[in-house]
Amino acid sequence: MTGRVAKKAALISGAAAGIGRSIAIRLAKEGARVAVADIDAAHGADVVAEIQAAGGEALFVALDVTDEAAWRAAVDAVEAAFGGLDILVNNAGIALSESVDKMSLADWRSVMAVNVDGVFLGTKFAIPAMRRAGGGSIINISSILGLTGLENLSAYCASKGAVRLFTKAVAIECGRDGSAIRVNSIHPGYIHTAMMEDDCRRDYGDVPTGLAEFGKLHPIGRVGEPDEIANGVLYLASDEAKFVTGSELVIDGGYTAV
Ligand code: NAD
Repeated sequence: MTGRVAKKAALISGAAAGIGRSIAIRLAKEGARVAVADIDAAHGADVVAEIQAAGGEALFVALDVTDEAAWRAAVDAVEAAFGGLDILVNNAGIALSESVDKMSLADWRSVMAVNVDGVFLGTKFAIPAMRRAGGGSIINISSILGLTGLENLSAYCASKGAVRLFTKAVAIECGRDGSAIRVNSIHPGYIHTAMMEDDCRRDYGDVPTGLAEFGKLHPIGRVGEPDEIANGVLYLASDEAKFVTGSELVIDGGYTAV
């Protein structure tokens, strides 16, 4: 298969739905062999079937990103099936809306476990596999809320800010050690997924009103679509970005330009 990431092996966490699903489909369309990794096996199997029906190569990998042993097994499974690992997209993430004084330590830790521990563990286990493959690209999905704050989302903002600087620190390590592994973060604005529909219902009562109101926060005048993030991932995953590491790709319709 030809394409911008032809024959590369990719693992995408949280790929059963939303942005991760679009990333899996986009990379597969451009020739990558894709591991759809998620806790949601049913929807993960649907994504695999969709990729295969379009002539692409994909498999489902059961993965809770907070589980160290599961990460080790997932990377092993991808290496065994595809002969290596070239692309890791740390996409799985959760949000929690609560004022800081009412937030329990357990809630805070649950956000950190998925959004920060998950990215650390994925990166930790991908790097040795990518060294064996002769290089690679790690793409961490942060957020506009890793760049600016928002009320009642302190844990989420803290987690996404951590992902931003974790990315830069690891990019320097991997640049200086000659491993040819690039590490970058992506910062989406509001993107129309199940996670965002929860925001719409919570803040505005229903999804259409929420989409319209959240859209106004972006100078472009609307919220984004998952494909618009997948296109950024495709660029960073491909050899077109071979001089790009430690960078933060903001895809937000101008939200953070204001
Ligand atoms: P989503 O809720 O629609 O999908 C998330 C996927 O991750 C689901 O398939 C879910 O099963 C999976 N997942 C959740 N916990 C997991 C775990 N512990 N292990 C493995 N998989 C797990 O979310 P989305 O909107 O597609 O968000 C994807 C990423 O983009 C997240 O990191 C999110 O923070 C980030 N993001 C989203 C938006 C937005 O507006 N939607 C904006 C900025 C950043």
